Amino acid sequence: MGSFDDAGPGACVGARSAAAALGDDTLGARSVAAAFDEGDLNPSACDLCPRACGANRAAGERGACGAGAEVLVARAALHLWEEPPISGDDGSGTIFFAHCPLRCDYCQNAMIAHGALGAPARVPDLAAMCLDLEQQGALNVNFVTPTHYAPHARAAVRLARARGLALPIVWNTSGYETVRAIRDNANAVDVYLTDFKYADAALGARYSHVPDYPARATEALDAMVRAVGAPTYDEYRGQERMTRGVVVRHLILPGHLDDSKRVVQTVHERYGADVRLSIMNQYTPVVATAAQAGDARARRVLARCPELACRVPDEEYEELLDFADVLGVPDYFWQEGGACEESFIPEFSGTGA
Ligand code: SF4
Repeated sequence: MGSFDDAGPGACVGARSAAAALGDDTLGARSVAAAFDEGDLNPSACDLCPRACGANRAAGERGACGAGAEVLVARAALHLWEEPPISGDDGSGTIFFAHCPLRCDYCQNAMIAHGALGAPARVPDLAAMCLDLEQQGALNVNFVTPTHYAPHARAAVRLARARGLALPIVWNTSGYETVRAIRDNANAVDVYLTDFKYADAALGARYSHVPDYPARATEALDAMVRAVGAPTYDEYRGQERMTRGVVVRHLILPGHLDDSKRVVQTVHERYGADVRLSIMNQYTPVVATAAQAGDARARRVLARCPELACRVPDEEYEELLDFADVLGVPDYFWQEGGACEESFIPEFSGTGA
């Protein structure tokens, strides 16, 4: 059994058992530079995520995700607490975006997912952040929740590549993506770091207010595996680094061990060694902390879902890992105790943005 200890309690541990150009997307055939000048990367009837809420973001209207015309970046900095071949020792070059299409009630990054915390950034700014993170020694560029800013992120990759960016691009997503979005990412994204949150659609409705999470996440995951293939690695400045592939993250939630088992079994049986599972126990009841501080949204959430104030017992997490072992899930990532601490949630103070 591999172990990870003080790499950082938020980090995923080692295995417990054993672009140069954009695809044909929103930019069409126009040059990147022209698109920047026109500033027209926002859709007039947004369908960038499966909600397809139709917001006219080009005119400044905000969608169900909260995003409008402006890209907001909450943090651009090295991050040590992703899975080992994503963070390595030197850190992943994370760019955290504000807003989120899913906006789960228990969100661990609620202050940016539900709020509008962040600094405005245009495509050249994003490209500059990518290059700056490479200069700082990042193993990759890691776009965190980029779904609602996908055209901007892809355009930034294209511009940064033209200026010499050589790092792999990681698309760090809730999993609630459209198949078209994954196709549009062709040649821009190397690694998918994607959640698979629920096997039961009723949980998606209860906590994330979408009735179709498992169906959409499965379609998207199929497309991701087709797009980037089985995991590959290189050695980057003495660190193992994932250069292509898919990591599927699943966070065990309080009271839902059975659903977590269904997720693990489904992902294992459908994809086998084509993906690496990351089974996470860092659930932190931040919604309870927010409710105690007087946050009205958090109070409404807890009144409807009081179980979200609880932590996940260690025994339940152990049972899930044992279940994965019995299934024969290869080389999955797991977390040691102490991952569920609010102090390991990054500060979203606009660092690097
Ligand atoms: S990304 Fe946001 S604005 Fe676009 S469809 Fe989804 S929720 Fe609506």
